[in-house]
Amino acid sequence: MLDGRYDKVRMAALSRNWRSLMESRWCTACGQVFLPCPQVPRQTYCAQPDCQRERRRLWQQAKRQSDPDYLDNQAQAQRAWSKRNSNYWRGYRETHPDYAAQNRSRQRVRNDKRKTLKIAKMDSIPLAIPLLSGIYQLKALGHRDVAKMDVWTVQLTVLSAMQT
Ligand SMILES: [Zn+2]
Repeated sequence: MLDGRYDKVRMAALSRNWRSLMESRWCTACGQVFLPCPQVPRQTYCAQPDCQRERRRLWQQAKRQSDPDYLDNQAQAQRAWSKRNSNYWRGYRETHPDYAAQNRSRQRVRNDKRKTLKIAKMDSIPLAIPLLSGIYQLKALGHRDVAKMDVWTVQLTVLSAMQT
């Protein structure tokens, strides 16, 4: 025999289940059954972070296609971010002189390397004027302190003309 109080509890449980049954739905992303938040009656994605990310991604995609202003705003926001970021780096270099000096010396090494490479490449370019035997000055290039270095006097003897 069921007494009245038990009936009441059972009815409450039933109505809770009924609500769950009526309102539960399948998540558009993961396909699992979920109960939407009372605040979001049209919720179609469950609360899992991956599913919410997917929802935002699709929303943005649709927005970009349908709203040129949104695209503009995003580009503008991107530019503003870059600007803020460059200010940040400028500020960082100003407050961290060691970092800036290290960066500059690294850049110098890179520049020197590039210069040396350029000179090395010139070797393979055929000379417009044939190289004649004679006395030449030999000077090291591609070093930072070229001015401090000696210039050698060398004698070159051309053994055979290069065929190009
Ligand atoms: Zn989901």
